[in-house]
Parts: sequence; C-alpha cells; structure tokens
Amino acid sequence: MTQITLALSKGRIFEETLPLLAAAGIVPEENPESSRKLIIGTNRPDVRLIIVRASDVPTYVQHGAADLGVAGKDVLMEHGGEGLYQPIDLNIAKCRMMVATPVGFDYEAAVRRGSRLRVATKYVQTARLHFAAKGVHVDLIKLYGSMELAPLVGLSDVIVDLVSTGGTLKANNLVAVEDICAISSRLVVNQAALKLKHGLVQPIIETFRSAVKAD
Ligand code: ATP
Ligand code: MG
Repeated sequence: MTQITLALSKGRIFEETLPLLAAAGIVPEENPESSRKLIIGTNRPDVRLIIVRASDVPTYVQHGAADLGVAGKDVLMEHGGEGLYQPIDLNIAKCRMMVATPVGFDYEAAVRRGSRLRVATKYVQTARLHFAAKGVHVDLIKLYGSMELAPLVGLSDVIVDLVSTGGTLKANNLVAVEDICAISSRLVVNQAALKLKHGLVQPIIETFRSAVKAD
C-alpha cells in the first residue's frame, strides 16, 4: 500500500493544521503535546504524521523523508525552498517579521545608506536581504531564541524577529520600528512525491485549498 507522510511541528502549526486535516478526513491517533512519539498514525492507514522542529520541516520534505509538510514563511525564507513545491498559503500561524530596537534608539539615523548596524536574529538570510536592499552594512549575529535580550545587553543594536501582539517586545522595553513582511504557513510538497504519489497527494492539496479560511 502506498503511504504518505506529513511533517508538522508541535504547537500552533499542529493545532491550526488539525481542522485542515479533518477536512481531508484525517484524524491523528495521538496528540504530540502529550505523546512522546515522533511518528503518529492517523485513522487513515495510508497517512502518517511525523513531528519535527518547525525549522526542520523543509529539510524532511526536500529529501523526501516526508511527502508533505507545513512550514512558516519565515522558515522557508531561511531554507530557500529548494526542491519544494509550495502550492498553498494556509493562512495559519500568522504574524509579522519585523525589526525591533530598544525604546529611544534612533533607528532612522542608524539605517542611513552606508552605515553599519549590528543585527541579532535567528533569521540571518532574511535580515541580510532586508538590509542589503537598503544599502546598510550589517554585522549579523546568529541566535537560536530569545532575540529580545540581545540589544538589552549590548550584543546588538537591533533584532529581526517575529512579532504577533508585541507583548514580548513591550515587556522588554523594545519597539518594532520596521515591518519586513507578513508571515503565515504554507503547505510544502516534495516534487517527486507530487508525481509518484499523485493519487494520494493531489486530493489533500485540493481539500486544503478549499478549507483554507480567508481573513
Ligand atoms: P522552535 O520552538 O522549535 O525553536 P519555533 O519557535 O520557530 O521553533 P513555533 O514557535 O512553534 O516554533 O513557531 C512555528 C511557526 O509559527 C514559526 O515558524 C512561524 O511561522 C509561526 N509563528 C512563530 N511565532 C508566532 C506568533 N507569535 N504568532 C503566530 N505565528 C507565529
Ligand atoms: Mg517557539
């Protein structure tokens, strides 16, 4: 029997993908929040889920270890999207990619063409492109989390991070000073699986497409 594997991350992506799976008649047998299993069966014998780090989803799908996955645009911009077909914006896990600074920092003066800026971020490719387009030289400092701390202790001048309510920025006396882009999650599909498992993959794409909620 042909089987397909869908890569998801725990947390908001899993939760927000559940209704789309339900529309396709797919119900996971376990909840990854409470189960320690990394491979989760579903009510459909031809569909299984794997639970991976959000930033690892494109890698599993690119190499065909998963046929499909759900990944944030933030993660896809860093990965580059090589080998991935991205048929649908699922309009879930929405937030914004932004530049933030300590309150009172003169960002306008700091980003004049030809100036140099220290930028701490998990999203180095995105930050590189953003500041290159403005003609600003950057020293990129790669972090893996809690970016908000960096400017508070002098590691960087600014951060590039995801912002939803702005609550974390506010709690740390930071302010968003520039919007880079809107972020939401996409369905990603392995290009070989799209051909070789078309009969299983295409109906899922079509069902997801019609189940996606507009704003
Ligand atoms: P990890 O926790 O494994 O380091 P992560 O923090 O990127 O990875 P999540 O917090 O689950 O993982 O985020 C998954 C995706 O959800 C992100 O890639 C992004 O697209 C989106 N996202 C992140 N933060 C928010 C937010 N505050 N509101 C809405 N969507 C978000
Ligand atoms: Mg997280």
